[in-house]
Amino acid sequence: MNLVNKNWQSSKYLHNAIESINTLLEKDPDLYSSLRNLFFVITSADIPSLTNQTIYNSSSNGFAVTESNYYMPEVSKNYFVHLIIVNQQICEQANLDDEELTAVLLHELGHVFNMYKQEPIPTLIYCLKTNTTYNADLEAKTKEENSIYNEYYADYFVVKNGYSQQLIKSLKKYTNLDFAINHDQIAKRIQMIQNGDCEFTGILKELKPMVK
Ligand SMILES: [Zn+2]
Repeated sequence: MNLVNKNWQSSKYLHNAIESINTLLEKDPDLYSSLRNLFFVITSADIPSLTNQTIYNSSSNGFAVTESNYYMPEVSKNYFVHLIIVNQQICEQANLDDEELTAVLLHELGHVFNMYKQEPIPTLIYCLKTNTTYNADLEAKTKEENSIYNEYYADYFVVKNGYSQQLIKSLKKYTNLDFAINHDQIAKRIQMIQNGDCEFTGILKELKPMVK
């Protein structure tokens, strides 16, 4: 599998980071060949031509965001992709170097290659169905845990690939930006990375099957 494929929107800015990722992915062909070769990495400048949706709006997603099963009729009918969108503007504002950009891309790939198996959210309907007692605090806590574990597992993928220090640096640069959010969650993530905690499940985020 090659991250740079026919769908790649060329970007000089990300060139070196992409090259590093390709080198890492080539070391483990078994894992990566099991996934459909459908990656898009798009810098912010390319977004308006592809989507008018709110999939990506400003700073709230940090440096990048991954949307799996993103429908792309521009390419062909029934075409679903793992869409990785890098916000070049924010990366530039934070002054990320090539290695930190690589860590950012690896984190996004971690959302595809090392998924956290989400706990079911005990919503009111869920509790009625399962005949359990509803508890609003528990519902909120489970949502929050799913969210942070999702990030931890994406980070583990970066650690596994030897970019933990660069990831920490990129996260610290993000928190220094005026508009940065999620400071508490980022502090917890840095702690986990520094501890060297790393769990690799290898659970792939599957794409929807192509329907003729
Ligand atoms: Zn993430």
